[in-house]
Amino acid sequence: MAIEIGTAVAKPGTVAKGQLRVGSMADGSPIALPVFIASGRKDGPTAWIEGCIHGEEYGGAVSIIELMKTIDVGTLRGTVIGLPCINPPSFNFRSRVSMIDGQNMNRIFPANPGGSYSLQLGAVLAEHLGKHANFLMDLHSGGIGAEVPSYVIYKDDSSATAESSKALAKRVGFDTIWRVKEAGGMGGTITAEASRRSIPSVTIEVGGGTFLPVHLENYMTAINGFLKATGNVPGEPPVKERYTIISDGAFIHNHEGGLFLQDCKVGDILPKGGPIGRLMNLLGDVVEEIRSPYNQAYIAALRCDKYPTHAGEIAAEAIPVESREGL
Ligand SMILES: [Zn+2]
Repeated sequence: MAIEIGTAVAKPGTVAKGQLRVGSMADGSPIALPVFIASGRKDGPTAWIEGCIHGEEYGGAVSIIELMKTIDVGTLRGTVIGLPCINPPSFNFRSRVSMIDGQNMNRIFPANPGGSYSLQLGAVLAEHLGKHANFLMDLHSGGIGAEVPSYVIYKDDSSATAESSKALAKRVGFDTIWRVKEAGGMGGTITAEASRRSIPSVTIEVGGGTFLPVHLENYMTAINGFLKATGNVPGEPPVKERYTIISDGAFIHNHEGGLFLQDCKVGDILPKGGPIGRLMNLLGDVVEEIRSPYNQAYIAALRCDKYPTHAGEIAAEAIPVESREGL
């Protein structure tokens, strides 16, 4: 049966484009999600790839547009749904949270059609996801004021779906995998919602700050690996010799404002007490030093160097290395 999302209607051997209306602003201007549907001529699963659930993480949108320009529908099996921006009230203001209700849309699932706007939007997305998707890839970055190395996240709730998600995570061409336990408070993410619906999923983290060609390259590596692993695209997905599994870490929030001075690099693995960064006030005094709270802490996100930072923003994410393993 042909997939239809908003005005986009799949036709075998083509890439359909359209929009899904999901509400309106105070002045009546519509809030609409851009939708691509790439349809193969052969049967296969439906893979759902989305960007900008955090609106300032625009690298995902760029990569989905690139995917849909270059995808070979002649050899494609099944369907790839591409949603470059699933959170316009956050994207339009280059913000991590929604400018309508202040919500972080990647913490509100299972959402609620009777809730504030992000919850209404989340409910529409969850419904379409459940109706169409066999696999989900959610694209993220460090946003504008922070950067991340390239890594992949999967949700581990000890289910069979989690096992499939982990297997997918190993085939996106990255060698660092963040295993997020449900108990870790991430149950409001869209990938947790996918898990509740038995849809295997991965979250991809790449870049941040200025979008560079290497970031596009890494996103495309991950997307192409994912689509091979799902069986949508022919060919063997990449395999790494060894995977570093990280887990149980924390977002590190600074207590003083100022300019953030980096004392490490993203992807570094720091000992306990190792320097992460400092806050310098506008009189040139260092007002706070931030150090690694753990041993073997993988720096999964870091504020951009010299970036103006309020107290309580995310200065860094430090996630302990849990294990190293093969495929
Ligand atoms: Zn994000």
